[in-house]
Amino acid sequence: MAADSLSITVLGSGTSVGIPTIGCHCAVCHSGDPHDNRLRPSILVNYNGRGILVDTTPDFRQQALRFKIERIDAILFTHAHADHIMGLDDVRPFNFYQGGVIPIYGSAQTLENIERSFRYIFDRNETESSRPRLTPQAFDNEPFDVFGLPFTPIRLSHGKGTVHGFRFGSAAYLTDHSDIPPESMEQLKDLDVLFLDALRHRPHPTHSTVERSIQSVSELKPKDAYFTHICHDLSHAETEKTLPPHVHLAYDGLELQVALPHA
Ligand SMILES: [Zn+2]
Ligand SMILES: [Zn+2]
Ligand SMILES: [Zn+2]
Repeated sequence: MAADSLSITVLGSGTSVGIPTIGCHCAVCHSGDPHDNRLRPSILVNYNGRGILVDTTPDFRQQALRFKIERIDAILFTHAHADHIMGLDDVRPFNFYQGGVIPIYGSAQTLENIERSFRYIFDRNETESSRPRLTPQAFDNEPFDVFGLPFTPIRLSHGKGTVHGFRFGSAAYLTDHSDIPPESMEQLKDLDVLFLDALRHRPHPTHSTVERSIQSVSELKPKDAYFTHICHDLSHAETEKTLPPHVHLAYDGLELQVALPHA
């Protein structure tokens, strides 16, 4: 039997409005470097042939076509902001091809917000139209199993709100956050790969900055760190030159192999 495999594909590394940003004439939005072209933030975790999607961005359809996604077996939600959920309707083709329902995982609060934003999906009345077939599964603070791979929810502050990152295998994905509480820092030791929000250099009430996330990396000491949820203040090439050697800006299409738990 083939060895277990775990990999991550970055489907989007941009902030909520995407890069290029509509109507913007700045150098990054007009850059010819494909690394500066950033769809909304999401990753696909590939585990033993299963596709586990983190967030369904408004760009999900384009991401699925661009990266030739063949399966979505489960969806994990970090929180219910529009840039993380608005592509949910576009998972319907995966319902058609795969048959059955797709489990969606989120905190009780996140699932409640998704159900309110997409009332037609969760309406129990008969309909003539197709709609995604999903089974909501709420997580609390405990690890939960997705096709044999344990995911640990990591609680994060996103301004005044609470969102979740996830630790799985030797990787963790922490998008939108302004602060990592001390008990969550404890859950992020001994990582090979750590994704972190790093919007820009200037402070923001709900997002981490490059400087703040470099500080988090220096405390957590992952082997490699990748910044995401990046806005148009940051040119990929220029910013990379200024980062420590094991810290990088993520970019759409980045693929990483990850060691399995206990491997
Ligand atoms: Zn966001
Ligand atoms: Zn711009
Ligand atoms: Zn957010």
